[in-house]
Amino acid sequence: MGKEKGFKVTYTTADPAGLEAFHQAYDKAIEDVSSLFGKSYSHYIAGEQVQSQEVFTDLNPTNQELLIGKFQKGEAAEFNSAVEAALAVFKTWRDQSFQQRCSIMRKAAEIIGQRKYELAAIMSLEAGKNRLEAMGDVEESADLIRYYCSQMEEAEGFVRTMGKLSPNEKAMGVLRPYGVWVVISPFNFPLALATGMSAGVLIAGNTAVFKPSSDTPLIGLKLYEIYKEAGIPDGVFNFITGPGGNFEETIFKNNKISGLVFTGSSEVGMSLYKGFSQDYPRPCILEMGSKNPAIVTQNADLDMAAEGVMKSAFGLGGQKCSACSRVYVHKKIEDFFLEKLLEKTSQIEIGDPAKRNVYLGPLINQRALEKFKTWAGICRQEGKILVGGKVLTEGSLAKGYFVEPTIVTGLPKGHKIFQEELFLPLLVEAPVDSLEEAVEECNKVDYGLTAGIFSSDQKEIEYFFKETESGVLYANRRSGATTGAWPGVQPFCGWKKSGSTGKGGCGPYYVAQFMREQSRTVME
Ligand code: NAD
Repeated sequence: MGKEKGFKVTYTTADPAGLEAFHQAYDKAIEDVSSLFGKSYSHYIAGEQVQSQEVFTDLNPTNQELLIGKFQKGEAAEFNSAVEAALAVFKTWRDQSFQQRCSIMRKAAEIIGQRKYELAAIMSLEAGKNRLEAMGDVEESADLIRYYCSQMEEAEGFVRTMGKLSPNEKAMGVLRPYGVWVVISPFNFPLALATGMSAGVLIAGNTAVFKPSSDTPLIGLKLYEIYKEAGIPDGVFNFITGPGGNFEETIFKNNKISGLVFTGSSEVGMSLYKGFSQDYPRPCILEMGSKNPAIVTQNADLDMAAEGVMKSAFGLGGQKCSACSRVYVHKKIEDFFLEKLLEKTSQIEIGDPAKRNVYLGPLINQRALEKFKTWAGICRQEGKILVGGKVLTEGSLAKGYFVEPTIVTGLPKGHKIFQEELFLPLLVEAPVDSLEEAVEECNKVDYGLTAGIFSSDQKEIEYFFKETESGVLYANRRSGATTGAWPGVQPFCGWKKSGSTGKGGCGPYYVAQFMREQSRTVME
C-alpha cells in the first residue's frame, strides 16, 4: 500500500501512480462486502432497532437478481416517533460546546476515511457507481464534515460582540440551532449528500431524522453506524427508511419538526417546499435538479471541450444534478467538435461498475430505464441520433439497467428536451451563431445549477461568467465541463428552480443556514 499513501481520489483527480494499489484494495472490498448482502435491516430510533409492517427490497442495478438487503417500509408512526426521539435529546446536544460536537464529527470523518474502500464498494454495487466516482463520493463525504466543522470553529461558534448605543450596554449576536431537522437524500451521491446535509444539521447543534433514498438505503445505514461509532449520542441522528411519499403529509403536519433539508428532484422538492410552512415559516433548504449546458465557442480547444463534455454528460450515466445535458456549439466548428465528441463517446467502457476500468454502469432503476426508452424514441422520431439510443441487453448486461450513451442533434432549440431534466446519459447538441445566443439559450430554462464554457478568449469567459444564470460556472475544464465540485473549492448553489436559499453546499455559508439569530443585550 506504500504508494497509495496520501493518494486521494476526487471526481477530477486520480494519481495514476496509486491506481494499482487502489484497484487491489477495491477488489478485496467488493469481495468482502458482497458476502454480507441479503440481510434484513431495521429503522434506528433513539438507538433502538424498530420494525414496520412491511419491508422493501434493495437490488443491485447491475444485476437485479442480486439482493443488497431488505429495509423497513416506514409509515407515519415510525417517523413521528423518530421526531420525538430527536426532540428528547435536542437540548443536550445543543448545550454541548461546538468544540465537542466538532470533535465527534471529525471523528466520523476519520472513520469514513478508514472505511473508505468498504463504503465505495457498497456504493458501486448499490448505486451503480464506477470505482473512481464512488471513491470520490466517499472522500467528499469526509471532506464535507471537515469543511463544515471548520466553518463553526473559525466563527467561534457564531457568537459575536455587537455595537453599543450607550456605554453600559453589552450586546451579543449569536446563532442558535432550531431543533429537529428532517434530512432527505437522493440516490446519486448517496453518502456525500447524506453526510453533507446531516453534518450541517448536527454541527450547528440540531438533531435529525434521516431518510435515505429507497435506491440506496444501505449506504444510508452505514452513515448511521459511522455516526454512532464516532460518538453521536442515541436519538441525535435517527435512521428511517421507506418510500418518500409515505412521509410527506407527516412532515407537513408535525410541528415538532423545525426544519427540512432536502436534495433531490425539483418536483419533489417544490412539493415539500409548498407544504412545509403551513402554520408559520419553517426553514426549508432545498438542492434540486437542473439542465446544465456547456458552450463551445470558435476559440475553444476542441479536444479539451470534447473530453470535458463527454465526461460530464456520461459520468454516472448522466445521473448527476450537475451533468451536462445540452451543448451549444458555434456553427463554424460544430463538425470538428462533434467528430471528437463521438470518438471519445465511442470509447466509453460500459459494464459492471464494480470492475476496474469500467466507466459507465447501469441506470439506477426500471423507472429510469423506461424514461430512457421514451426519450430515445422521441429523439429518433424528431431529431437525429448521432450515437447510442439503445437499451443494452446482451451477455453480462442482460440483468441490469444498461443503456448506450446517446447524443442527439437536429432538434429545435425550443424543444422540451432542452428544458426538462432527464437524468439519463442523453446529450442534446445544437449549433449557435454567437456566444450571446448560446448564453441566452442557457438562461431560457427554469433551472440554474451548473454551466461550462470552452474558450481561449478571456473576454468570452468574462461575458459567460457575468451573464449566465447558474450558481456553479466552469471554464475550460477538461476533467468535467459542468461536474466535479468539491467542498471548500466550488460552492454548489442552485439558482432558480435548482435551489431554495441562495447559499450552496460545499460553500462557506452552509452551516449558518441551520441556525437562527438571537441578540442578547444586557444593561450593565
Ligand atoms: P427524488 O426527488 O426522486 O428523491 C429524493 C429523495 O426524496 C428520496 O429520498 C426520496 O425517497 C424522497 N422523496 C420522494 N418523494 C417524496 C415525498 N413525496 N415526500 C418526501 N420525500 C420524498 O430524487 P432522486 O431520483 O433520488 O435524485 C435525483 C434528483 O436529485 C435529480 O433531480 C437531481 O438533479 C437531484 N440532485 C440535486 C443535487 C443538488 O445538489 N442540487 C444533488 C444531487 C441530486
